[in-house]
Amino acid sequence: MILFLIVVGLLVGSFLNVVLTRLDTEESFVSGRSRCDSCREIIRWYDNVPVLSYIILRGRCRSCGKAISPQHLFMELSTAALFAVAGAVIPVEDTPASVFGLVSVLGLIGVLSVVFVHDLMHMEIPVSVLVFGIVWTVVSLFLVWVSTGPSEPFLASRLWEGVVGGAIAFLSFYSLVYFSDETWMGMGDAWLALILGLALGWRLLLPALTLAFGSGAIVGIVLIVLGRKGLQSRIPFGPFLSGSVIVMLIFGTMMGEAFGYFMI
Ligand SMILES: [Zn+2]
Repeated sequence: MILFLIVVGLLVGSFLNVVLTRLDTEESFVSGRSRCDSCREIIRWYDNVPVLSYIILRGRCRSCGKAISPQHLFMELSTAALFAVAGAVIPVEDTPASVFGLVSVLGLIGVLSVVFVHDLMHMEIPVSVLVFGIVWTVVSLFLVWVSTGPSEPFLASRLWEGVVGGAIAFLSFYSLVYFSDETWMGMGDAWLALILGLALGWRLLLPALTLAFGSGAIVGIVLIVLGRKGLQSRIPFGPFLSGSVIVMLIFGTMMGEAFGYFMI
């Protein structure tokens, strides 16, 4: 199971690299083969094996010899590692709801990884990725709810907790954006907060936001102390939000048990 998730994680990570590249070059997502970032040469299938090709080609393009961005390797390895940890930590039972739950979490980890890297590199969260993330989360919550069966009252379901959590998170961030005139937060962060609330439910809202703001403050202070950033400079908040959702998606169940409630 874990080995399977590592292989799936490598393949998904490789696909996320394609997504990241095409978000910047505005190439179509479905048509066209992957190309080298420098010489635009089409990458042969045997040079497109996750991790292995990078090692064999020593991180260089076969035709032009230019270095391939280590971001590709990072994305493949981090996705594989997150999938493996999620599979090891999240309890999966032999029920449709449980399986939907895990697939939903893995997909969301992928979406949030793209947000993490893109916001870090370009200080911007692509709208298409946010829309996909919102649709993905709503559809999976709905599938989990339907497959749990009619035994569960709606007001006790994860779907309802997600809707309440999403509404609270979105409205809080939206007012931050509105009253600060987009100087503290951008609209991308507000939509990302909607995904956070939907995916985690209102019970995990406070721990997740504490983690996001806490880690953001620590990294901000460290960067200022190191002289890398001034007091007025802007640090994107998307990586902290998406990182904290990933952590809570994987370890939230454990925390939930510690606090006496359940997540999935
Ligand atoms: Zn090349």
